[in-house]
Amino acid sequence: MNNIYLYRNLDRFSFFLYNKDGDKMEIIIGSHVSFKSDDQLLGSLKEALSYGANTFMFYTGAPQNTKRCELNDNMTLEALKLMKENSIDLRNIIVHAPYIVNPANNANREFSINFLRQEIDRVERLGITKIVLHPGSHVGIGSEQGIKNIIDVLNATILSDTKVDICLETMAGKGSECGRTFEEIKKIIDGVVYKDKVKVCLDTCHINDAGYDLNEFDRIIDDFDNIIGIDKLACLHINDSKNIMGSHKDRHENIGFGQIGFNNLMKVLYHPKLKDIPKILETPYIAVDDKTKYPPYKFEIEMIRNKKINDNLLEDVKKYYEKKDS
Ligand SMILES: [Zn+2]
Repeated sequence: MNNIYLYRNLDRFSFFLYNKDGDKMEIIIGSHVSFKSDDQLLGSLKEALSYGANTFMFYTGAPQNTKRCELNDNMTLEALKLMKENSIDLRNIIVHAPYIVNPANNANREFSINFLRQEIDRVERLGITKIVLHPGSHVGIGSEQGIKNIIDVLNATILSDTKVDICLETMAGKGSECGRTFEEIKKIIDGVVYKDKVKVCLDTCHINDAGYDLNEFDRIIDDFDNIIGIDKLACLHINDSKNIMGSHKDRHENIGFGQIGFNNLMKVLYHPKLKDIPKILETPYIAVDDKTKYPPYKFEIEMIRNKKINDNLLEDVKKYYEKKDS
């Protein structure tokens, strides 16, 4: 098996969830999951299924380093079969590029290009079609030069035969981060030669922290559409924020427990214009003590599907996993 086989046969692994009238109906919701060398995509999928998710996102290795394991194609194929059995569409699965890649600063130019090229190869070999990338921080050289550097790295990385889409993530504007406004993201896209392969990942915590008012999400979507184009939106990161609008902090909070709030996040999750876009939770694990923490995703996904906040989220997560552990 190679990526040519996978991409030619993508339709075999892609399908949508229909209701009786043929309308797509089910929300595409999942979370960040792990990817380990011993069980790879199969392990990531099983973790996602344990949360009741129908999509997921992972780093192909530790986000803070570039060590990557050899991919096992038999395991990939097994995962694809299990995905199909569970009506999970391969086109909704996301890989997150490691955050040590900083294309905004040209001190790392060669490293960024080499690593991103390798990462694209790995993701194509898994048959996955979307990579989320943080535009990076200019670290003092100014956002205009930072944006030029990002464009330069993308043009050295995205080639005519690249099959995956690079999804630039909207950032909180912490420190010298580029991509804190829709205008900045648009500027980057405009500079890329193969711009049809550049898409956007919108993160609710980041846009809140960057100064967008999620009480008026319809206006945000209109702005996005006018500035970038809604057809460019390929992924949503759904996170509450520990901080108020415009704080430029980037600290994620559990759904309904932060400054954005449950009702505002529900408007994003169930927005009719965003119905076919995969939605990924990157909310924090629930800590019991210094050593033990548990993933909140199973319970957050339940809450989202029920359209009702669970005020006992933290307790329910702890109880569920403590019982499983014992
Ligand atoms: Zn994010």
